[in-house]
Amino acid sequence: MNAQLAADLARLVGDEALLTSPEDLAAYDQAARYEGGRAAVVVRPRAPAGVAAIVAWCVSHQVALAVQGANTGLVGASTADDSGHQVLLSLERLQTPLAVDPVNRSVRAGAGVRLSTVNAALQPHGLFLPIDLGADPTVGGMAATNTGGARFIRYGDMRRQVLGLEMVLADAAGTLVQLRRGLRKDNTGLDLRQVVIGAGAALGVITAVEFEVQPRPAQTAAALVLLEDLAAALPLLSHMEREGGELLSAFEGMSRAALSAALAHGRGLRSPFSGPLPPYAVLVELSTTRSLKPGDASPANHLEEALADWLETDDGGGAIDILTGAPEPLWAIRHAISEGLRAKGRVIGFDLAFRRSDLAAFRQAAVARLNVAFPEFEICDFGHIGDGGVHFNLVCDPDAPPTAERLSQLRDAVYEIACLQFCGSFSGEHGLGRANLAQYRTLTPAPVRGLAARVQGAFAERALGAVDFATLR
Ligand SMILES: Cc1cc2nc3c(=O)[nH]c(=O)nc-3n(C[C@H](O)[C@H](O)[C@H](O)COP(=O)(O)OP(=O)(O)OC[C@H]3O[C@@H](n4cnc5c(N)ncnc54)[C@H](O)[C@@H]3O)c2cc1C
Repeated sequence: MNAQLAADLARLVGDEALLTSPEDLAAYDQAARYEGGRAAVVVRPRAPAGVAAIVAWCVSHQVALAVQGANTGLVGASTADDSGHQVLLSLERLQTPLAVDPVNRSVRAGAGVRLSTVNAALQPHGLFLPIDLGADPTVGGMAATNTGGARFIRYGDMRRQVLGLEMVLADAAGTLVQLRRGLRKDNTGLDLRQVVIGAGAALGVITAVEFEVQPRPAQTAAALVLLEDLAAALPLLSHMEREGGELLSAFEGMSRAALSAALAHGRGLRSPFSGPLPPYAVLVELSTTRSLKPGDASPANHLEEALADWLETDDGGGAIDILTGAPEPLWAIRHAISEGLRAKGRVIGFDLAFRRSDLAAFRQAAVARLNVAFPEFEICDFGHIGDGGVHFNLVCDPDAPPTAERLSQLRDAVYEIACLQFCGSFSGEHGLGRANLAQYRTLTPAPVRGLAARVQGAFAERALGAVDFATLR
């Protein structure tokens, strides 16, 4: 720890906002699913003025600043790097405001407020923030990474929810700006808020977020549709969008290997399958905010009817079976996949996204090539296939770790198939960080990288966080 650095920062925000001991820093240095880093010091201001003071000082003194919300990010951008020189700015104590406006159906929250806290505050109003994921991020981190999640097909990502942002620009003055307020309609020039959403900390530090929220579903029904392969899921998706209409709230895909890992390692999970696991399965969910009146068809009735109709069509021939039941045990299997894979071996994850019409062809091409060229890796894919998302995860024996060269060959092969052959995305929902900057450099066209660098220059005198578009142009 650099004592002079700590003393300078303490003068700005007070001693109590600083953490310097290795024991205190450990939680901020350890990452959710990557190697993590080593911060020189952690600073935790309680108000936007403190954030502005820290940013201004670090920009003026050319000190690198890492920005952290809840540290649930997966791409190597949530922690300091391993130099030991970066200041880590944690937003976790920006807990105010937390103001619910039920009539506007919106919330204004300090950047450090967690998703679970927002939803607890919304519960009495029958509302919720419809971003559904297996972590509990901050609203600032969610805006910075444009979080997607399992209800994307119905509600979209964070970009669709955010009505306004307050942020500190990465300049030597630490300028505080408000990018739009809680209006749904505001056509008064460039919508800079949308440039900041998904940019990580590259343009500055988000200190407060205003976002739209939704009525909570009152009735939910789910089914697990067992299929011969992913190709059979795509006509089912079109059918459910037509027949389920606005009730369709999730369409999640799971390969046999992913199901098997979840069931083998998920604590307390009971297998709903009476026979062997299917090659592929889809979790379909319908939900409605309406309370049931006598004589109304429930989402469960709609779901059963829609699936029965589909079985009658030619496309329904790809179905092996349909399991219906309470939604929670079916979601428990879906949510257990990530931990199941980690328990099974070393996971090499790819957060890919495609046009939905390319999903099956990509999978077929990737399985055919990787099973021959990289037989030591087992393909355990799953994902939010209703919006084209695929967590194309590969697992290998932890006792026979691949060499760095082999891993690099594997990554090249997957990105070549996904991004060059099928024009997919190398980061469907997790954003940019040290883990995927090499792909950004090689897969993003030079004129686009140049434009990103120029946009960054308009917001920031110096890039914060893990991504500096100026050096990646
Ligand atoms: C189990 C698990 C499941 C997940 N599932 C999903 C999923 O389904 N969909 C999905 O999209 N993601 C998912 N994620 C990834 C992660 O939860 C999201 O990216 C999340 O929104 C990050 O928020 P955070 O507060 O944890 O931010 P952090 O991890 O702390 O930071 C993430 C990035 O945002 C920047 N940042 C954080 N706060 C601010 C701020 N106030 N101002 C400017 N920049 C900031 C950081 O510098 C970094 O670049 C999952 C993660 C885990 C561990």
